Amino acid sequence: MSHSLNRVEIDLGALRHNYRALQEQAGKGAEVLAMVKADAYGHGLVPVARTLAAAGARTFGVAEIEEGIALRQAGLEGEVIVLLGAPADRLDEVIVHRLSPVVFDLEMLAELSRRAVLAETRVDVHLKVDVGMGRLGILPPELPHFLDSLSRLPGVRLAGVSSHLPMADRPQAAVTREQCRLFMEIAARVRQASPEARFHLANSAAHLNLPETRLDMVRPGIALYGGQPGGPTAGGFRPVMSFRSRIQQVKEVPAGTGLSYGHTFVTSRPSRVAVLPVGYDDGLLRRLSNRAAVLIGGRRVPLRGNICMNACMADVTDLPAVRPGDEVVLLGRQGGEAITAGEIAGWLETIDYEVLCLVGGLNARLYVGAERGTGE
Ligand SMILES: *Cc1c(COP(=O)(O)O)cnc(C)c1O
Repeated sequence: MSHSLNRVEIDLGALRHNYRALQEQAGKGAEVLAMVKADAYGHGLVPVARTLAAAGARTFGVAEIEEGIALRQAGLEGEVIVLLGAPADRLDEVIVHRLSPVVFDLEMLAELSRRAVLAETRVDVHLKVDVGMGRLGILPPELPHFLDSLSRLPGVRLAGVSSHLPMADRPQAAVTREQCRLFMEIAARVRQASPEARFHLANSAAHLNLPETRLDMVRPGIALYGGQPGGPTAGGFRPVMSFRSRIQQVKEVPAGTGLSYGHTFVTSRPSRVAVLPVGYDDGLLRRLSNRAAVLIGGRRVPLRGNICMNACMADVTDLPAVRPGDEVVLLGRQGGEAITAGEIAGWLETIDYEVLCLVGGLNARLYVGAERGTGE
């Protein structure tokens, strides 16, 4: 699947630091619901969840049932909230693995109730209300009928009510203000009838930019992994993922030498070129050709020519000491320099979330910084 020369390193110490910082900011009133969906944003579902559990996390958010089952099979306790809900053909698995699905469909809820009663158990559910994301969730006017129906169903309990903000990185925007107001109003109303339900709205950006949205739980994802949530408030989080490789060959070429497919780069001076065993198969997307930089010898050097499937070239003309076998950092820190997921995202015209999922998902991961004796 991957090349021994390339590795994604996951710094569990940085992950613990970010989790603790978030929990500290949230204070005693709000719990951090650790978002570990999408294989923990490419960092590895089970190792990340174990580290967070050892650091005190009790509630986890996954996208799909499959991920929830993987957490249970790894021995993770605590509440596992399945954000995409439960498809009709997998309700028994929700029950067996004690997962808490997000709900937005009364028909599904009635069937879940029937099966929970048959299994002589109770399933916790989190109702999703759409206050303006335009994604999953019931619309606010449907709320009274939904809650009334839910309260009549045995075997299911309203454990939470949630929503999601589309522009939490713009805390002052009128839409954000209005969506927050709407959810607060819903929370105040529903809390009276369902005092056990926990209310949650905030992703990383809302947690940081709109502290009033923290309510009973916050759902940070990107901040846990040290990415940039967006918006005016920075959180002091440490990047958890880095991507490293080693130089395979260094060669001297004259001025006028074309590099790689299509000769999209031609040297303008006698040059030293380092060939790196990293390509788009490893998540170094071809779109980064002649755009990206990497770190070698603690210095930033440009990639030159088209990125190949398993190779690319860096210009190391100004680094005469560079040798084959030297470390290359494609994402992360080397000496005093750093390349962040946000910077790569800028070159790719995307967001750092996508960079982390891509690079983490395509490469072998090495975990560093585990605490001994914690089961990490
Ligand atoms: C992914 C997700 C989050 C986490 O968002 P970040 O921006 O990564 O903090 C929170 N809530 C929901 C519903 C999500 O889907």
